[in-house]
Amino acid sequence: MKKDIILVIGSCGQIGTELTAGLREKYGTLNVIGADKFTDLTDDGPYHQLDVLNMGALADLVRREKVTQIYLLAAMLSASGERNIHAAWQLNMDGLLNVLKVAAAQRLDKVFWPSSIAVFGPSSAKHLCPQEPQSEPNTVYGISKRAGEYWCKYYFEKHNVDVRSIRFPGLISYATKPGGGTTDYAVHIFHEALEKGQYDCFLKEDASLPMMYMKDAVRATLQLMDAPKEKLRIRTSYNLSATNFAPCDLSAEIKKHLPDFTISYNPDYRQAIAEAWPASINDLYARQDWNWEPQFSMQMIVTDMLLNLKKKKEKIKEPQLVHDFPDFPESNSLTTMYY
Ligand code: NAD
Repeated sequence: MKKDIILVIGSCGQIGTELTAGLREKYGTLNVIGADKFTDLTDDGPYHQLDVLNMGALADLVRREKVTQIYLLAAMLSASGERNIHAAWQLNMDGLLNVLKVAAAQRLDKVFWPSSIAVFGPSSAKHLCPQEPQSEPNTVYGISKRAGEYWCKYYFEKHNVDVRSIRFPGLISYATKPGGGTTDYAVHIFHEALEKGQYDCFLKEDASLPMMYMKDAVRATLQLMDAPKEKLRIRTSYNLSATNFAPCDLSAEIKKHLPDFTISYNPDYRQAIAEAWPASINDLYARQDWNWEPQFSMQMIVTDMLLNLKKKKEKIKEPQLVHDFPDFPESNSLTTMYY
């Protein structure tokens, strides 16, 4: 039987860090190759420095390592994308097209590429937004994701590339800091609550958005990639839902654990992005086609985040090298961060 060899592009990022670990648990460390634009000093498995925009290097790596599946996570997110519109378009579109071209040419088994709730826009339904709603994305990131969804469908239909996709909501994790999205507040708030007991939020208190814990996101990805091909009715990207909350709900829940915690609100340009997105998502197709069922409620997320961040801070007695992604991925660099 052919061995699965998996390449994760963008493996140092918020999703990449935990998805690579999940894939290595499932397929074996040596069969999952991490790749990112950095020279990674922390990856404990096979790793290559790779710029996904370098088509030749990508094609060579896939051929040399006999890769059978690619998970493409390299992208510029919503907030950073609005400040770097042409670079965002280039990375988000050319990166995807390079992977689809290589997948078609080298007949890969499967490709995973995440889309986002950013494909929705001001005219989309605000509550229980359906799979195929009115969709008028009003950020470069959202436009690139919507166009990307149709490129995935096109390559599936015309070039037989089995590319699968999920429209992720805002993701919350403790392993890495987020990479420049509109929902990043829901991760920053935990770090600031533990370090300073205070958080100044860049969204309004009632900006309710669909959110998901990274453990659910990784499980959903593995589940979709395992699903029988014939069961998948959606070849653009699946709506996916777990929980929905606003900054005031999250801060009230954190206060139950840290009674002295306070929050202030100073909405910036990201508030306008959040206002265009739905407050909740209808994910009926994911539930029917590949048995999607979320596990983490907001209450469970808060308990697990605080527990793991506290553990991490206690464990790291000496300063260590970890990845910290600032607001603008263009200036991403490996920096020393002291917990
Ligand atoms: P991230 O910014 O944390 O990570 C992206 C990674 O890609 C980084 O490690 C970065 O160094 C790498 N990268 C950037 N340019 C590259 C290049 N040219 N070549 C190789 N690597 C490059 O992003 P993330 O949050 O992990 O998101 C991953 C994917 O999931 C993206 O497509 C994003 O749009 C999507 N998504 C994320 C969220 C979220 O809340 N994090 C929500 C919806 C969708």
